[in-house]
Amino acid sequence: MTRLLSPMAGWLAPLDEVPDPVFAERMMGDGFAIDPVEGLVAAPCAATVQAIAPTGHSVTLSAAGGATILIHIGLETVALGGAGFEVVARVGAQVAAGDPLIRFSLDRVGRSARSLLTPVILIGAGDRIELSGTGRRVAIGDPLATIHGGGGGDRDRAAAQAGSAERVVTIPMAHGIHARPAARIVDTLRPFSAGMTLAVGERTADARSIVALLSLAAKHGERLTIAATGTDAAGAAEAIAALIAGGMGEADHAPPPRPPAPPVAAAIGSTLAGVTAAPGLAIGTACHLAVAEIAVPADGAGIAAERAALASALAGMRRALAGKATGAAADIAAAHAALLDDPALADAADAAIAAGRSAGHAWRGATRAAAATLRATGDALLIERVADLADIERQVIALLAGSEAAAAPPLPPAAILIAEELLPSQFMLLDMARLAGICTAGGGPTSHVAILAASAGVPMLVAAGPAVTAIPEGRTLVLDADAARLETDPGVALLAETEARLADRRRARADAVAAAHDDARTADGIRIEVFANLGATGDAAAAVAAGGEGCGLLRTEFLFLDRATAPSEDEQARDYAAIAATLGDRPLIVRTLDIGGDKPVAYLPMAAEENPALGLRGVRLTLARPDLLDTQLRAILRGVPLGQCRIMVPMVIEPAELRAVRHALDRARIATGVEVAIPLGVMIETPAAALLADAIAREADFLSIGSNDLTQYALACDRGNPATAARVDALHPAVLRLIAEAAKGAAAHGRWIGVCGGLASDPAAAAILIGLGITELSAAPASIPAVKARVRELRLADCRAIAARALACGDAAEVRALIGETA
Ligand code: PEP
Ligand code: MG
Repeated sequence: MTRLLSPMAGWLAPLDEVPDPVFAERMMGDGFAIDPVEGLVAAPCAATVQAIAPTGHSVTLSAAGGATILIHIGLETVALGGAGFEVVARVGAQVAAGDPLIRFSLDRVGRSARSLLTPVILIGAGDRIELSGTGRRVAIGDPLATIHGGGGGDRDRAAAQAGSAERVVTIPMAHGIHARPAARIVDTLRPFSAGMTLAVGERTADARSIVALLSLAAKHGERLTIAATGTDAAGAAEAIAALIAGGMGEADHAPPPRPPAPPVAAAIGSTLAGVTAAPGLAIGTACHLAVAEIAVPADGAGIAAERAALASALAGMRRALAGKATGAAADIAAAHAALLDDPALADAADAAIAAGRSAGHAWRGATRAAAATLRATGDALLIERVADLADIERQVIALLAGSEAAAAPPLPPAAILIAEELLPSQFMLLDMARLAGICTAGGGPTSHVAILAASAGVPMLVAAGPAVTAIPEGRTLVLDADAARLETDPGVALLAETEARLADRRRARADAVAAAHDDARTADGIRIEVFANLGATGDAAAAVAAGGEGCGLLRTEFLFLDRATAPSEDEQARDYAAIAATLGDRPLIVRTLDIGGDKPVAYLPMAAEENPALGLRGVRLTLARPDLLDTQLRAILRGVPLGQCRIMVPMVIEPAELRAVRHALDRARIATGVEVAIPLGVMIETPAAALLADAIAREADFLSIGSNDLTQYALACDRGNPATAARVDALHPAVLRLIAEAAKGAAAHGRWIGVCGGLASDPAAAAILIGLGITELSAAPASIPAVKARVRELRLADCRAIAARALACGDAAEVRALIGETA
């Protein structure tokens, strides 16, 4: 039993009076509300401060008695972005009843918020609150309520089980643990029986619940503690540590600077400002998306019947998601499918059904409570995940209500769709041939629907504010998502200017795409091969479609990460064969495994390393584990037709490593009966390899610059650390000098040299690279047409001149300025 004292001075009200169903219908838990008369929130009991929203509008406390208490100052106050709030307490601090937590300006918050009424909620099931009278004025410290039962009763059960393991990793994913990584974590844990929590500082989450993982709000660069208990705790902790440390394919880039999302859109005349979610420019006709909420009965028709109905609707939705195509849509479907299995949602819905609610009411309550928890974090990225919860809420309820699959809304030609929010499932129904753009009042730039729009090439603006919903249907609009603007009343001049810009863009893109399948030659006839980087079996088709002349880097790690055992020789051979077949007879450069260091795998026990980027990774690891290397080399030789096959070695620092791999390749050739020589190249991605390129090129068949690692090692800037992200620029003259040295070394022995790091995908870098002697660029498939188009504009003499000037620059900014001058 815990006594709660009043955390605020004001009028005590029952929760039912809060004008928000999430609180009033107790979707997050029981509690009460206070209409404040002073701008101070104090601790209602002795507690640990578990979380404070970065925007200062809410605080979560772990009461000494075990209950979790959320105090949410006013309604929709997250939109104030912190204005008017001053956080006094510190996350992790032990506070006594009456200690100040947050101060706020009654006047400022009161003027902007929907309501100042402040819900005080006991989060989660199992706790009950007994309130002593409402409708009265209370002062801070007045006795208010008693909490009975629940909270933390089971907390130590798991710890008592046999076996425990702990791992600490730094989160490399650019956007931290957002929906897709959360889904992967839950998925990876499935084969294990261990209980697991993930913790960042004082915040912890059940690793089997996506909703809990999202609420953890774990960010790029934060240290995450993985604690597992149970008989297979060690394996489970290892698997999750490896998964996270491997970056899940999202560690290539530091977080992009987020455009500040205006809490309320700025309207200047007929211009509405928003946030770019997908780039592009469009002229179109305003078309509003109207979606009616499906009504659900509150009361159920019997617990067993409602449980069965919910189970069948969930199964129906899982089936629908399993049939989703490929690419971005498939990834998002997988994230939604994982949400459907989330234990936090399932438990909340089941508890409501057990209390007599209908399946629809229970499901809606569970998803909305989870959404409210995400909103309460105040974290803009997590708040964007609310749309995913709304989507699965709507689709499951539609199945429960027996509605047919929602019909596609009719769109006029060149429609600019206007909506409060757009859900991924709604986007997927839209007729792309008629969709010119999208503008939403809410939403965020990294929402799933934004990813879908970007991959479909549909310009999209989000967070444009409520004014967008008042745009008349059928109005002609100019959506300039590149400039984050919607023109709601464009005059003749603006329309004509936009038409001209659109025509220019269409021409440039069409020219680049039309010529994407032609060889790339500079204007004076120098042949530059433009290849594609591949990281998964499915990428090969996109590479060929984009004009890739082959694969310049197959990152084979994708086959090895996220699994409990290494892939067998047969499995690898099948995958390499599938990729080779999709490439037709184009060359395929397979990179041997680049795992270890910051890309560990669970089934390879390795000692913890202080500096993993300088540790046992790439060729060092494969030479230390010849079984892995031999298996992979045999699989490559069996899977890839010999005429197409080339092999490349990562993280080399000296020729001896290449020699050792060549011996292994000879063993593999004998084992597979391959008599022809297979070209064996070296990635130049350490300063040592660049400086020893002539010695390496004497023995290598080709060289390829890994500009991502070469940059991090040359500049001593961790490529995954946000603090150094802005400095990791491969156009830094120090990196360019290393590339120049490598090119000289290759030329000395008549070897070709390419670039397969991120620098090759940047058309702006092409002139300098060609000027330094690079003759192959292996780029992301989507960049191939633009890279080829840029190559065709260049002349070798000019490239050499700009390269020479770039080598003489003092920093990357000077090099970029030089490129700007000469473009
Ligand atoms: C590189 O380092 O530039 C490279 C291509 O390898 P990865 O990005 O896979 O480390
Ligand atoms: Mg590399």
